[in-house]
Amino acid sequence: MKLEVCNVSVAIGGTPILHDVSLDVAPGEFVGLIGPNGSGKSTLLRTIYRSVRPSGGTVLLGGADVWSLSARTAARRTAAVLQNSPTPPGLTVHEVAALGRTPHKGMFDRETAADREIVVDSLERTGMLGYAERIYGSLSGGERQRVLLARALVQEPELLVLDEPTNHLDIRARFELLELVHTVGVTTLAVLHDLDLAARSCDRLTVLDSGRVVATGPVLDALTPEVLSDVFGVTAVTERHQDGIVRVTYGARPLARAS
Ligand code: ADP
Ligand code: MG
Repeated sequence: MKLEVCNVSVAIGGTPILHDVSLDVAPGEFVGLIGPNGSGKSTLLRTIYRSVRPSGGTVLLGGADVWSLSARTAARRTAAVLQNSPTPPGLTVHEVAALGRTPHKGMFDRETAADREIVVDSLERTGMLGYAERIYGSLSGGERQRVLLARALVQEPELLVLDEPTNHLDIRARFELLELVHTVGVTTLAVLHDLDLAARSCDRLTVLDSGRVVATGPVLDALTPEVLSDVFGVTAVTERHQDGIVRVTYGARPLARAS
């Protein structure tokens, strides 16, 4: 399903955080949202999964304004994997993943065989089926992140929103997680910290700086040496290598001079 963010502005407590931000993600596309700390990436995601209401502009999912939908319909369509997602204490991995069914069910509905099948399938895809009976709180950060992704898949969402999903993961697990998201093929907007990982994984990138979009488009067009220097403060180039993979290579003196 297509996501269109149109001229979204956010002010919190009178302080402007986002200014006229627009971006779109085509059905099945994987778009990366990048920018320095404090540039407004998480805030933009919040306007999409309905945790912060924009002070201007619209967020359309499949052409429908997500802020006009019922909370339940919106919750069914969009799954978010966030940093430090709160989960009730004492739940097993299976129970946490099964929470992804919640928006599809009535308050007193029991887990059906079909629900269980989706949960088992999602835990299998994220490599966490062997942990199903473990207490979620006893897992490592990386393992928790996989369970949260499993919960998002259990939801069978139209849109996946990820906020720095690879943060606690070791290098192999980072690649595995992003490959998995690609395989799932759901429309995805992901905040990624690691620019090289973003460059090689994403179809397109949108770059935020101080609450404004400063570049958007295919990776090579968005992540230019100028953007890397002006926005991220590093000397680097983005190139497509002979194997077809786009990589970011940092300079011998990686700190760009302040202009
Ligand atoms: P990013 O995810 O890119 O690091 P955030 O969206 O978290 O950035 O934050 C963008 C800016 O908005 C920061 O300056 C942050 O301090 C501010 N901000 C975010 N949430 C709030 C809030 N609830 N109250 C006040 N300021 C906030
Ligand atoms: Mg953030």
